[in-house]
Amino acid sequence: MPKEYLLIFPALLLLAQALHAEDPKRPNIVFIMSDDHANNAISAYGSNLIQTPHLDRLASEGMLFNNAFCTNSICGPSRAVILTGKYSHLNGFLVNETTRFDGSQTTFPKLFQQAGYETAVIGKWHLGTEPIGFDYWDVLPGQGSYYDPDFIKMGETITHEGYATEIIAEKSVEWLRNRDADKPFVLFSQHKAPHSDFSPSPKYRNHFDGHTFLEPETLFDDYEGRSEGASVSDMRIDPHLVLQYQWDEKLPIPEGLTGKDRTRWLYQWYMRRYLACVLSVDDAVGAVLDTLDELGLADNTIVVYTSDQGFFLGEHGWYDKRYMYEESLRMPLIVRYPPAIKPGSIEDRIVLNLDYAQTFLDYAGIAAPGDMQGRSLRPLLESEPVALWRRSMYYHFYEYPGWHYVKRHYGVRTDRFKLIRYYHDIEAWEMYDLETDPNEVSNLADDPAYADVRAELETELARLQAQYGDSPELAQEMVERYPHGSYPEWERYSDLAPYGDLEGWRAAQKRNSGEN
Ligand code: CA
Repeated sequence: MPKEYLLIFPALLLLAQALHAEDPKRPNIVFIMSDDHANNAISAYGSNLIQTPHLDRLASEGMLFNNAFCTNSICGPSRAVILTGKYSHLNGFLVNETTRFDGSQTTFPKLFQQAGYETAVIGKWHLGTEPIGFDYWDVLPGQGSYYDPDFIKMGETITHEGYATEIIAEKSVEWLRNRDADKPFVLFSQHKAPHSDFSPSPKYRNHFDGHTFLEPETLFDDYEGRSEGASVSDMRIDPHLVLQYQWDEKLPIPEGLTGKDRTRWLYQWYMRRYLACVLSVDDAVGAVLDTLDELGLADNTIVVYTSDQGFFLGEHGWYDKRYMYEESLRMPLIVRYPPAIKPGSIEDRIVLNLDYAQTFLDYAGIAAPGDMQGRSLRPLLESEPVALWRRSMYYHFYEYPGWHYVKRHYGVRTDRFKLIRYYHDIEAWEMYDLETDPNEVSNLADDPAYADVRAELETELARLQAQYGDSPELAQEMVERYPHGSYPEWERYSDLAPYGDLEGWRAAQKRNSGEN
């Protein structure tokens, strides 16, 4: 062989490897997910509460989805839907505590790994079983801690000094720098924040001191006209947030405050803490975007920002999620991929957490298993004409009786209407016209003027249940198979003496956490 060939051949090999790693058909994916981040706490979504410059940058460089919804608004179950592309009744992870994720089933990270991608998950996992399908994992145990958190790195528990969101950002950046540069990759960078107990970084602890946030119109909702499904939960800022926090010396309610004044004070306290947590998440997004720029990866990497579901920021007087009402149903979804997505684009059609797996598989050229139930978002992301996109979505929440006492319910949401059925220990329907009543305060379920609309929605609900393999009968079967949304000894804080029974509250807290 002539001498020059000996030189050319290794050079060609290197070139081939370089091309392979930057193959536009095999883009990298950075999936950044926070926990309980409401759209209303992102300025790109028009928040009047906070500025989130890094998330706004991502939106201005990519596509923002206005109607992204989750199919079961609770942490672990939403994550299981994302990984499997299947509804909860099929992936088996219905509720956070009394079911766990079966890691032996097919997930999209496993398929990426088999296709030669390097896969990693850093931060919150919260599926009750060890991550499978990841070459590298370094995750918080369970909910994890905000301050000086433990991480389980490939099975080994290591305590880190510092603040969880900042540590997860650092670990993600470090992984990007040290990954196997010959392979395309999928990185899950998943934050605990801004989940309760809303503990901010020392950097932002006093950031919103003295700031007064605009109150939501429904802060003093009295649930008139709605069913018991809405009125009996333990979700109110006052008193349930108080019950959750009063013993931690975190809630210095000024003496003598009562009634609406107290609720107002609590709302401001809650927003200061929650939004301070969001500032760190926004910084973490910025750190990852800067690192992609620095490593020259921005053009061939799909960056996704989302949350496992939405959150109530005082709407209906509530905090937390679970309900099919807009604030908890809605998830932020922002996607950037320069070669394919027009900067600053906005999509209003209905998309679901159920769609994420098939979207990523589509972009990587990996065949999606036929039993995944979502749909690739690629044509929407690339602004291609789509003849038939979904006009409605199906929702099903199971975690009852359990934390916050939100009854089991399922329902359908279209572009304009929403129909909800609470089916467990009450039989109640609610229906809303989101065009005329975006706050969802006028229940039209029994309004004769809307009887036709209700009939159509009931038909659509049945159609969607059949399509996804769910049914009223299966819902009842799940009640019998999994009678407890949380641990069997779980009890309502509302049943305790509201502000006096410290020992009773501590005991209930322990029982509710599954401790003996
Ligand atoms: Ca969550």
